[in-house]
Amino acid sequence: MLDYSHEDWKSRAAGLSFRGQAFIDGKFVDAASGKTFDSINPATGAVLTQVAECDEEDVNHAVAAARAAFEDGRWSRMAPGDRKAVMLKLVDLIRANLEEMALLDSLDMGKLVTDAVTVDAPGSAHFFQWYAEAIDKVYDEVAPTGPGDLALVSRVPLGVVGAVTPWNFPLDMATWKAAAALAAGNSVVLKPAEQSPLSALRLAELAAEAGIPDGVFNVVPGFGTTAGRALGLHMDVDCLAFTGSTAIGKMFMQYSGQSNLKQVWPETGGKSPNLVFADCEDLDAAADMAAFGIFFNQGEVCSANSRLYVERSIKDAFVEKMIARAQAMQPGDPLDPMSKMGAIVDEKQTQGIMRFVEDGKKTANLVAGGERVTVDGKGCFIQPTIFDDVAHDNPLARDEIFGPVLSVIPFDTEEQAVTMANDSIYGLAASVWTDNLSRACRVSDKLMAGTVSVNTMDALSAMTPFGGMKQSGFGRDLSLHSLEKYTALKTTWIKYKA
Ligand code: NAD
Ligand code: MN
Repeated sequence: MLDYSHEDWKSRAAGLSFRGQAFIDGKFVDAASGKTFDSINPATGAVLTQVAECDEEDVNHAVAAARAAFEDGRWSRMAPGDRKAVMLKLVDLIRANLEEMALLDSLDMGKLVTDAVTVDAPGSAHFFQWYAEAIDKVYDEVAPTGPGDLALVSRVPLGVVGAVTPWNFPLDMATWKAAAALAAGNSVVLKPAEQSPLSALRLAELAAEAGIPDGVFNVVPGFGTTAGRALGLHMDVDCLAFTGSTAIGKMFMQYSGQSNLKQVWPETGGKSPNLVFADCEDLDAAADMAAFGIFFNQGEVCSANSRLYVERSIKDAFVEKMIARAQAMQPGDPLDPMSKMGAIVDEKQTQGIMRFVEDGKKTANLVAGGERVTVDGKGCFIQPTIFDDVAHDNPLARDEIFGPVLSVIPFDTEEQAVTMANDSIYGLAASVWTDNLSRACRVSDKLMAGTVSVNTMDALSAMTPFGGMKQSGFGRDLSLHSLEKYTALKTTWIKYKA
């Protein structure tokens, strides 16, 4: 697939068929209301297919199926080694359908197909594999009580896990939630973002083919204010794993309080700082990664390094490097392997980003990009955009834009850099570039972020927890720690004649 030409990808996309029905209790079904909405390709404006518009009634149906499956133990009481075998079959199926999974995300939300096929789709297989392989290697505890008492401390699945996910990495966000929740023995009801539901629906179909029993993995596409809200308010959902904006994350906390006190795990927004010190030896590598950190996936990355703090003595030279990289990353057809950036997810997001850009032109120094463009006369595309000399309190430097827009802010001292970096409601990720070891340790120690990357960018792996501090949310995806979200600690105390 890595050698496919633009024509190859276009002909494969043209040959694709889409499933837009909901997946409930092991079957594709229409929404009970019969309603549908359009799934749109933002690179062309074309309607890909009609998708079931699930609402409260469908969510009730899916939760009931998930509960029934959990109660009769068809998955929850399966031996961990057997669950592992089923999940590993799903891994094989994702890998066998890699091209299709990549195309679904690329067509649905505009990301480069070359990224989808090298990052997103293989990532999904990898994360499922990682959790599958972990299931029969995680042990429980026996408390040190002494003779006469046996106190078992075990982790048990919660029951029905609701998951509500965003559109920026549709397949991977569904995977981060579902792989860990399913590995732990739960049933799952997933509501994917309305902008990009197709890969999650295909994933559910593959899961069924792999042998995940009916009712264990359900996908209910629909809108946030109907299907998402119904899942958040449901009295029989035990845990709600959310990835999306901070505003909606707060809403899920309220839904929980208004309903059954379900656990809520919000992974929310970010405005991540990238600190480049003059003692960084390889400023070209730093610039390459700074550009990747804000322009990868059109800047639609929760941990995007959207605030670039550069030591004043090298600031102008570094900005020159950034301008050159921005100019080399102009957007193009997501199906063209030569394109360096894809389309913005939809018209609304494109207009929202452009409002920041237009305001920025009046309040900061635009040095690259700044225009909405079309590709072949169509679509939602924005040039990689850089503003220099942005005031620290400018909305450009403060608000999550979620697009390819970088704000450059000079600093004079290490202390000032750290203070500005931490002066944010968010705390998802941060990066530091320096070849001074003590400075690297000192600064990363002080940065308030879930992940600090030193001399790299957006470090992320299945082995390490991912999530935020402050209003970037709490709870962690990935790593064994993610299993803590989807299990309860249970003490079983047995008295015996010693
Ligand atoms: P969003 O919050 O608008 O939507 C996320 C999900 O919530 C969607 O499925 C949506 O349908 C649903 N939703 C919307 N309104 C709702 C409501 N009133 N009730 C219930 N559900 C509702 O976010 P988005 O625009 O899809 O995604 C972008 C956001 O996601 C950014 O803020 C980004 O930082 C964040 N994000 C965070 C992470 C992370 O791990 N921290 C990862 C990716 C994206
Ligand atoms: Mn779409």
